[in-house]
Amino acid sequence: MGLVLVAAGSVASADLSQIETTRARFMELHPTTKMLKSSEGQVRRIYGTAFGHGENPLDAAASFKDRWSDIYGVPATQLVPTPLEEGRSHLQPIVYRQESDAYQFTGAYYSQQIDGVPVYGTRLCVLVRNEPGYPVVLASSQLKQTGDWAPGAHAPVPDRAAALAAAERFFGTPARLVDEPTWVIFAGGEDELLEPRLSMRVEAVTGRKFEGNYRRWLLLVDPQTGEILYEENRVLNCFPQGVSTAVAAVATSDISGTVSGMATEWSGADECEIEVETQLPYAQVTASNGQTVYADSNGAYVLPTGEGETVDVTSGLIGQWFTVNNQAGEDATITRETSDGETEDFVHNWSNADEQVRAQVNAYLEANIVRDFTLQFNPAYPVIATQTQFPTNVNLNDSCNAYYDYSSTNYYIASGGCNNTAFSVIVHHEYGHHLVACAGSGQGEYGEGMGDVMGVLITGDPQLARGFFQGQCSTGIRNADNSCQYLASGCSSCGSQIHACGQLISGCVWDIRENLMAEYPNGNDIISSLAINAMLLHNGTSIDEAIVIDYLTLDDDDADIGNGTPHYQEIALGFQAHDLDAPQLDFLSFSFPDGRPDKVDPDGGTTLSVRIDPNLAEVLEGSEQVWIDSGSGYQVLDLPSTGDGSYEVMFPPATCGTEVGYVFRAQTTDGSLVFNPSDWPDSFYTAYAAEDVLVAIDDDFETDQGWEVTGTSTTPWVRVVPPADGPAWKPQSDYDGSGRCYLTHAQAELDGTTILTSPPIDAGDGGTLTFAFWLAQRQNNPAQPEDGMQLFVSTDGDGSDWTLVRDWHTYANEWRTDSLTIGPEGEVPASPYLFLRFVAIDEDVDNRVKAGVDAIQMISVDCESAPCPSDLSGDGMVSVDDLLAVIAGWGGPDGDATGDGTTNVDDLLQIIGDWGSTCE
Ligand SMILES: [Zn+2]
Repeated sequence: MGLVLVAAGSVASADLSQIETTRARFMELHPTTKMLKSSEGQVRRIYGTAFGHGENPLDAAASFKDRWSDIYGVPATQLVPTPLEEGRSHLQPIVYRQESDAYQFTGAYYSQQIDGVPVYGTRLCVLVRNEPGYPVVLASSQLKQTGDWAPGAHAPVPDRAAALAAAERFFGTPARLVDEPTWVIFAGGEDELLEPRLSMRVEAVTGRKFEGNYRRWLLLVDPQTGEILYEENRVLNCFPQGVSTAVAAVATSDISGTVSGMATEWSGADECEIEVETQLPYAQVTASNGQTVYADSNGAYVLPTGEGETVDVTSGLIGQWFTVNNQAGEDATITRETSDGETEDFVHNWSNADEQVRAQVNAYLEANIVRDFTLQFNPAYPVIATQTQFPTNVNLNDSCNAYYDYSSTNYYIASGGCNNTAFSVIVHHEYGHHLVACAGSGQGEYGEGMGDVMGVLITGDPQLARGFFQGQCSTGIRNADNSCQYLASGCSSCGSQIHACGQLISGCVWDIRENLMAEYPNGNDIISSLAINAMLLHNGTSIDEAIVIDYLTLDDDDADIGNGTPHYQEIALGFQAHDLDAPQLDFLSFSFPDGRPDKVDPDGGTTLSVRIDPNLAEVLEGSEQVWIDSGSGYQVLDLPSTGDGSYEVMFPPATCGTEVGYVFRAQTTDGSLVFNPSDWPDSFYTAYAAEDVLVAIDDDFETDQGWEVTGTSTTPWVRVVPPADGPAWKPQSDYDGSGRCYLTHAQAELDGTTILTSPPIDAGDGGTLTFAFWLAQRQNNPAQPEDGMQLFVSTDGDGSDWTLVRDWHTYANEWRTDSLTIGPEGEVPASPYLFLRFVAIDEDVDNRVKAGVDAIQMISVDCESAPCPSDLSGDGMVSVDDLLAVIAGWGGPDGDATGDGTTNVDDLLQIIGDWGSTCE
């Protein structure tokens, strides 16, 4: 029997095949949308063209999440709306446009939770364009497939004493908890998938900042064994090793003035630049009568006073958004006696003689600069838009560094050959870490690079921290004007250490900025908006091609990056200079006027018509190729032209049963190479080499194909659209998106036993039968051991002899997929009358069980050649037996070899013509 079984991907793991099936189904419905996967096959970005819509951003994002979470191998019920900033909406405005005073995008954020416990490090951001139809244009994800695993019983909160003990064991010194320990599920770090474990999230500090022995770590600790499953240093060193605030004038009699300081100019250390008087925005002014006011963005303040009142007015390096703490002594303040109606101007560091006072002014000013700069491109940036008096600690008694620790930024005094580190780009860098943290991204090389990027965008100086080392005013510690190349392993050609590798993103941003500034007067604004808003889409710590996708998606002005984006060229070239490739544009348009075949003749000769039309570019004549893989690697063939942009492929012979893959390639007149499908080698077209591709059954349960329901249950199988508002243990939708499926009652849980029997399926040619099923239980009325679902098959022809082939007793709040191989070497013998029987059992009325079935499909490939009509005797040879059969059947139908219904001289001639040939 010339028959080959078709396996729908690997069926070794039902989960895996379900993910593959869902991804394939998604790509079928959204052929121009693309997926970026990690080397482990995790989907990290879905992008390219719109792949969902809604009535509003929430609806669009939630519909995508609910419908397609299986792409990630994660049930939709585990994806819980999670705001970037506690107490806010999980919908985050992204990319503010001043000209329209509107946001272009909304990001909807979800984290993965199992039974209410967050899975550490997970999130899904669904990006929606704020325009009619609300197209979904990007899904940025970092999720963990945890299967049926659940955390089990645990105390409402972890034990504080155990958490502290774990931290102290880790530090080897007394420690303090930064916040209360919480439960999280640890299923591996970034790009790692481990067996999930319930763990305590512990964040603790030890030592003192002014003593130079301060440490802060995040630990995930096994509550039973105290084992530390994950550790993260929360002290990020900078080196290896538009808000209206002015209080309206309420009285005619006030004290007013400005607050300013002698601050170090531009981007270098104080040794390298001059100090100039600069207004200190949002600075706090207090009076001895109890009044406190904040200056406006220009440092101007108005202090209400009573008629004729005289008060002591104090100005310090503290303001609405930042508090500078001098770690080497008293904070710098100025106090003056002033009377109602007078003007009082404060100039900090006027004498400019003390490094430590200068550091306080610089830290205050630069912190406000980087915050204002960020809010200019996203006034709704999480946390920082409203966070007040963020601690900025200066003059720490240590040398040659600065750090961010998730609740402050910190700078060192001049010593050890280094200048005081509280200046311009170092402050921007440390606050850049805060921006990365507030965006919910990981730090690592991305955090270091983005810290540097903030300095570059604000100062325009690619040298990072000139004068960090005393006497070195022309060079910094890193350089954004670099040629660091992306390396898939090893981070970058500039090194894998996080600060060195961070130069990869600062290098890309610098080159994009150069490209943009050559073309646009507001080039720096364009790249700044992209760099700042793209932080909100970043997951984890890596710098790779996902960032290119994020920038292009945010730059785009329609829901299609294939047709280019307003600054595609400048962005793509900037990344390309660092070996990060941008998704290819649709330079040429490929189409198939007669469709593409699902099978090709194993003997060769099947033809396929193709059109190649110019889109963004013209095709270079003679460059058109088709690459065909019939099972032993690609064979490159010229694409024969039939004139006027039309071509015809002729498929070569291929062993029957093989899946033949093919892809088209052409060059444009301006030298771009274009593949179709464009993300080859990730995808390509396929067809089976076969005499016939047979569909034995393809039932999405939209029509009644003859299934029968029997049994004693009061809640029997019924073909319905599942109600969308049920609890998690009942499906909210069918599996395949067609609408209907079979469920044990539309609403109620199952009671008794209900049997669903298929119509006869012609599985005589064998193949693979695939299906989806649902089997879930309610958590507080769980199933009994005898409950569950079973699958029986009958192959005896009349559906009387049943064989048990599946016996399910595991429960999950999601659709699962499974398959049966049918044929001589399969689990089930081939039969032209195959019957299936799904039996759902819940005999105790107190239990709560729900079962479902959907998407029954079976495809087989037929490799049997057309019958050999001259072999009348059926012995595989055309020989004397067949001649005798013609003579014996003369005048009747029995010796008919030509198919005309009778036996005459034509049949005799045919036998003689085929004499000696073999038939298989
Ligand atoms: Zn850093």
